Amino acid sequence: MKVTEHLAKAEKTLLSLEILPPLKGKSISGIYDVLDHLIEFNPSFINVTYHRSEYIYKKRGDDRFDKVFIRKRPGTVGICAAIQFKYKIDAVAHIICGGFTKEETEDALIDLSYLSIDNVLLLRGDASKNERDFIAEPGGHKYASELVKQVVNMNNGIYLEEDSIQGYKTDFNIGVAGYPEKHFESPNLKSDLRFLKQKVEAGADYIVTQMFYDNQQYFDFVKKCREEGINIPIIPGIKPITAASQIHSIPRTFHVDIPEALSDEIDNCKTPEAVKAAGVKWCIQQSQELVEAGAPCIHYYTMGNVDAMRTIVDEVF
Ligand code: FAD
Repeated sequence: MKVTEHLAKAEKTLLSLEILPPLKGKSISGIYDVLDHLIEFNPSFINVTYHRSEYIYKKRGDDRFDKVFIRKRPGTVGICAAIQFKYKIDAVAHIICGGFTKEETEDALIDLSYLSIDNVLLLRGDASKNERDFIAEPGGHKYASELVKQVVNMNNGIYLEEDSIQGYKTDFNIGVAGYPEKHFESPNLKSDLRFLKQKVEAGADYIVTQMFYDNQQYFDFVKKCREEGINIPIIPGIKPITAASQIHSIPRTFHVDIPEALSDEIDNCKTPEAVKAAGVKWCIQQSQELVEAGAPCIHYYTMGNVDAMRTIVDEVF
């Protein structure tokens, strides 16, 4: 079933979980270990992230270096298929522009469609680790809105090669990302919303937000989206703090604010266990307020934190 069908049918706030593929060389059992502990809470769908390849320099025998491309977390399509097969729960595959040509993306989408994985979250992706700014692959997309257009074309039977126009029509339900505190590259929220609207006009069906730690950010964002004529569902994305270092790493990585009350509380914790308990408590309070406010679904960035996630969803759902 499609994400928007789940949302339309729902009589209460739904649960969505986001997981990462395992590091290359690790088994899929790590994913099952996480999901086996959370499945009883009936997530409506499970998102699987996508990770672009990056290049590293490997020393050769003659003391020179080879530039080698590696993908640390491959397997998104396979994991989505495995989830749907094992748990009979809809999987949402993340697809990114970065590192891919349009042709490679088309092939991945065809695989997804053959596997009945009809939910995709379409993203631009971040700059490669070795680059300061995002650079599109030659023959790839520069912005997520272009990727949305490609998928909408496929839904209309239009593929990249002209002679396959009016081909098989895929049936993808399309999610895109939104940023309550604006995307870090945007000069201001107004400009970011203009480009978010472009993704919606291109054919996005719903939005999932970047994490936030102050619900007012989400409420204000939804209001501004509606004022701009963005009327599709907006799913809040949140992530519990589980380690003291995240007070600094989360703002650095995700460009979001940690409210003073939360950072003070974490600073005052004497043990890692106390930090985790404070982070989980904050996340429960955030979730309960979102449920009370009628959020259509809560999307948790689980990051493999089984214990914390179990405590949270047990309390909220
Ligand atoms: P876009 O919508 O393309 O926007 C990028 C920037 O360009 C914004 O500042 C926007 O305002 C601006 N912009 C857009 N269109 C134009 C235009 N036409 N002209 C000028 N400026 C424009 N990353 C991964 O690598 N893998 C994942 O699995 C993944 N999952 C994510 C899930 C969620 C829910 C979220 C919120 C983010 C996720 N990300 C993931 C991170 C995401 O790839 C980055 O945040 C990325 O920097 C932006 O992606 P986007 O799709 O929002 O980009």
